[in-house]
Amino acid sequence: MFKGNKKSLPVRYCKTCNKPMSWRKKWEKCWNEVLYCSERCRRQRSAQHKDDAQNAERNQ
Ligand SMILES: [Zn+2]
Repeated sequence: MFKGNKKSLPVRYCKTCNKPMSWRKKWEKCWNEVLYCSERCRRQRSAQHKDDAQNAERNQ
């Protein structure tokens, strides 16, 4: 914990790679929606979801 060091910015961990992401100005409006550190992680995650959906379809 470091206290009294400027303003502490919120930190979030990427859903895909668990990397800590510090708050960025460009995320000011959508910080609550930021889940991934990069476009790559975002795609990786949605690709997994796609596979899950395909598997589910196959089982029907
Ligand atoms: Zn990531």
